[in-house]
Amino acid sequence: MKVSTCPVCQNSFEGRKNKKYCSTFCKTSHNNEVFQKKNEALKEIIGEVKKNRLVLKKIFEIFQSTPIPIDLLRATNINMKYFTSVSKEGYYMFGEYQFRPSNDNKYYSILKK
Ligand SMILES: [Zn+2]
Repeated sequence: MKVSTCPVCQNSFEGRKNKKYCSTFCKTSHNNEVFQKKNEALKEIIGEVKKNRLVLKKIFEIFQSTPIPIDLLRATNINMKYFTSVSKEGYYMFGEYQFRPSNDNKYYSILKK
């Protein structure tokens, strides 16, 4: 038996050498906190993808698939770090919207699946 300090409630307890928490309650509290933090990070990413999709949707509603200048896109709050997938041609997908650069990267087209 070894005396340890519980990282959740700071109480001392005796137990196996590898026992981390004083009780099931503290162990569950810790696991819930870890899960909640992971969940918050995921929710934040999903929120960014949704925001990007909404920006592309609004641009598509105005311009359809007409090429638009990169400066117009820079003026939006699109964060290219967050997308749903990459098509087999290598274009970024934001839900049903596909983001296609021109060969010179000065214009972009948005296509809807
Ligand atoms: Zn505890």
